[in-house]
Amino acid sequence: MKLEDIPEVHRRLMIDFKANPAPVIDLMGAQERDPFKILVATVLSARTRDETTSQVISGKLFPAVKNFADLRALSVYEIEQLIYPVGFYRQKAAALKKMPDVIDEKFGGRIPETVEDLCELPGVGRKTANLVVAVAFDKPAICVDVHVHRINNRLGLLKTKDPLETEMKLREILPVELWKTWNACFVSFGQRRCTPRNPKCEGCIIGGFCDYNLTLKRGREGK
Ligand code: SF4
Repeated sequence: MKLEDIPEVHRRLMIDFKANPAPVIDLMGAQERDPFKILVATVLSARTRDETTSQVISGKLFPAVKNFADLRALSVYEIEQLIYPVGFYRQKAAALKKMPDVIDEKFGGRIPETVEDLCELPGVGRKTANLVVAVAFDKPAICVDVHVHRINNRLGLLKTKDPLETEMKLREILPVELWKTWNACFVSFGQRRCTPRNPKCEGCIIGGFCDYNLTLKRGREGK
């Protein structure tokens, strides 16, 4: 895939994105931009199916916990009960319990708005921080998860060894107006079509731009 193909690939993937169920965090961002809820939901959504995150936050957690004061009043055990069965609920409950104090001590009670500052919060890595910056604060950020990393390498847009390197390379080559939606383009697409094993290249809407697909085709044609 060439750099000049980026806008067309983005356009096609956004059509695909809009035709399929949106990830829970994007849905939340479209409904309300409450940074507290988006930060907490994003922490919970890591390594958890979207349906589970959605059921936990709307069914149990957010009816009971609306801000950091509510969170601070709970014990780790109570938070565990409210967020079960999200993945790694024990570690996430411990991180959420510490979060109000860290926000107070380091950031004067306000959720920080940069990736670097957000990464200082317990339970928050670069993927989560970028998603919070983009969805909660509507600022340019590129959230790189396993799907973005895998598919951008398959496309041949970049050649990187891990998500951090992918994020840094994308920051160099992507037009800034595409940063916020670049992740949304690939998540559902990566779950349904460009899967880790046996991607379904036949009929792929971006197959004509994709190095992986074009190499396969040339191999089949013996060129
Ligand atoms: S052509 Fe295949 S490898 Fe390339 S993006 Fe589509 S599904 Fe993925």
